[in-house]
Amino acid sequence: MNLVEQLENLFFPLPCSCPLCGRKQEKLQICQECYQRLIYRRSQYGQCQHCATFGYRAKACSNCRHWPQYFVANYSAWPYQEEYRAVIKAFKFGNQPWLAECLAREMLPFLPADYDVLVPIPLHWTRLRERGYNQSLLLAKALSKLSGLPCQEYLVRTRATKHQVELSRKERKSNLQQAFAVKNNENLKQQKIILVDDIFTTGATVLTCGQVLHQAGAKYISSVTLASGVD
Ligand SMILES: [Zn+2]
Ligand SMILES: [Zn+2]
Repeated sequence: MNLVEQLENLFFPLPCSCPLCGRKQEKLQICQECYQRLIYRRSQYGQCQHCATFGYRAKACSNCRHWPQYFVANYSAWPYQEEYRAVIKAFKFGNQPWLAECLAREMLPFLPADYDVLVPIPLHWTRLRERGYNQSLLLAKALSKLSGLPCQEYLVRTRATKHQVELSRKERKSNLQQAFAVKNNENLKQQKIILVDDIFTTGATVLTCGQVLHQAGAKYISSVTLASGVD
């Protein structure tokens, strides 16, 4: 722990509890009971091996069968439901940015090997102003610290999009078109990229970002998200 972190701890101590159930812990971490329940749920649901959507036991599902080759796979730790959904909501909208490191620890085992860089999904500045922080950037930075992979903000959001959850699948696609652009594109030529986001639902966001990165010269792309949908 460096001096800044020690001072932060002194003045803003983190709650010593499990964010999923609230049980007291030595530090902010997922407790053994919740961890065991998660392992059980993961095995009960099964997960698509290609896009990590829960509820499938296949090499590809109806969501990801037609993905382009340069988009290798998505990996997700949690099913997006119940207590998992509540924690992500608190992290994203409840002004609890300090959850990032604890949540990134959940994502770490799912990081694929042999990639060059972590790239967060950007937030439009108007939304950044509303929320105060970009949850994907916080997760990517924490994952970078834990994994040793660099974190680069290669993408920018060029226009604000409506909240994806309010839209149908078709609307999401058009809503996202031209919402992203690449910056520093000289540096990302031939790079193997892991996109970082909080939730994977239809995959439209990471696929659109993957397309933009691929067009700018990235070799191939995967994504890691904290949670993904349950079909
Ligand atoms: Zn717990
Ligand atoms: Zn799939």
